[in-house]
Amino acid sequence: MSPFQSKDLTIEANTIHKERTMEEYSIYIDGEWIRSEKKIRVVNPATDDAFAEVSTTDRAGVTRALESARRAFPQWSGMTGMKRGDYLLDVASRLSHRAEEIARIITMENGKPIAQSRAEVSMTIDHFRWFAEEARRGYGRVVPHQADGKRNFVIRQPVGVVGAISPWNFPLVLAARKVAPALAAGCTVLLKPASQTPVCAVELARCIAEADLPAGVFHLLAGNSSEIGNELLENPICRKISFTGSTEVGKQLIQGAARTCTKLSLELGGNAPVIVFADADLEAAAEGALITKFRNTGQSCVAANRIYVERPIYDAFIKAFVEKTKKLKVGNGLGEGVDIGAVVNRQALDTALGFVNDAVTRGARLLHGGARWGDKGNFLEPTVIADVPDDALCAREEIFAPVAAIYPFSSEEEALRKANGTEFGLAAYAYTGNVSRAVRVAERLEAGTVGINDSVPTTSNCPFGGVKQSGWGRELGAEGLDSFLETKHISLGIA
Ligand code: NAP
Repeated sequence: MSPFQSKDLTIEANTIHKERTMEEYSIYIDGEWIRSEKKIRVVNPATDDAFAEVSTTDRAGVTRALESARRAFPQWSGMTGMKRGDYLLDVASRLSHRAEEIARIITMENGKPIAQSRAEVSMTIDHFRWFAEEARRGYGRVVPHQADGKRNFVIRQPVGVVGAISPWNFPLVLAARKVAPALAAGCTVLLKPASQTPVCAVELARCIAEADLPAGVFHLLAGNSSEIGNELLENPICRKISFTGSTEVGKQLIQGAARTCTKLSLELGGNAPVIVFADADLEAAAEGALITKFRNTGQSCVAANRIYVERPIYDAFIKAFVEKTKKLKVGNGLGEGVDIGAVVNRQALDTALGFVNDAVTRGARLLHGGARWGDKGNFLEPTVIADVPDDALCAREEIFAPVAAIYPFSSEEEALRKANGTEFGLAAYAYTGNVSRAVRVAERLEAGTVGINDSVPTTSNCPFGGVKQSGWGRELGAEGLDSFLETKHISLGIA
């Protein structure tokens, strides 16, 4: 089995799938499916062929969606959490029935291998189920009073109308991390997916519409991102924006929100280190680092961007890692058994090749790959470079491609200093067989998620988010619901 295939998947793989012809998709505003003249053309990065068109909205359409969401808010927020949870369970079940179709769409618009798209749909379903349960748990508290004749209560209430903006790299599951908890908390939601990958968001909207949520509770927008973003920032109906994407756009949203004090949750860029200590299980560490690096064709915010290996096992680790890399199958993500699909577009391919050239020019050794794969689509050979100098561009910036950069280190102190030597802090990983070191290193790594001997730590029931320039706030876990709730103190005078 490929290292990227999820073991708990129940959906069986078919043989090569037939690709779709051009299809048209609508957006969803105020309980209606809307078609527009102006459309986004969606291109398959494996073939460079357009296969879908999605309608768009202008700024006036965003205003209309916001007003509809405001009208729907009292009924939706006034419902019991249990009832909202039932709606979310219905959405989960509809996603589950349509899982294979949606997985194929993800692969066609994003390029990732179909097995990984199936895993993304499975995780999305699990997020909806998790937040369906969490909907009942927006607990407040009764605080012992400290003034005679008063009683103090703290209640939690939904923030209000929320704008959710999601990226292309995990187009379904990252949208779900906002939509599911916001709906569970009692907020009404406008989702704006990335223009590269809007189709699976339309499928999500279809599941939500068919689950019969009241009109106005959920809207799907597409179109010019700054126009939509500006309306969300400037219209006082929108009380919060939950954004996942680049640090650059995150900073623009911070600037915009400064004018209106719109609340922000930000899931931004990463530069994850993997530290492999000499006392680690070498085989497990090489396999784990391989998965962390090459999953999603390297286009993950939690991908291994820098792999630090302790000198006594440096050569042995590289040998094991390169041998495993050579076995990865590259190809159109719709083909069974493919491990490495196309990167998202030509620009991503050129940027990745630029990182490799820069590192090699500065003295890194190219051990595998390093070139474009095939002559159609946007494929890069899985690439391994070692002895990467600390001043290489790929040490500072997100590679976001199947390029593994390996660095030697001599001591725990040096490894931690280098691992933390970045303005990002989303995820970090370490491999060690020493329990004391595991605890020490986990506590000192500056990241929102730390995987110790674990290459895929993200899970519905635990918080996910970044420190430093990787963002503000947390998604998933109990914190995921919390981020869509306001806190209110009620002081009651009694006779
Ligand atoms: P991006 O360019 O920042 O785009 C993300 C989303 O923001 C898209 O929907 C985009 O729409 C929209 N957008 C762009 N400019 C906007 C503006 N001025 N106002 C409002 N919305 C705007 O990021 P990306 O290239 O899609 O994603 C890759 C980045 O996301 C990487 O840095 C990665 O690390 C980060 N990421 C972080 C996490 C996390 O959880 N921390 C998870 C995944 C990815 P259009 O597509 O229409 O332009």
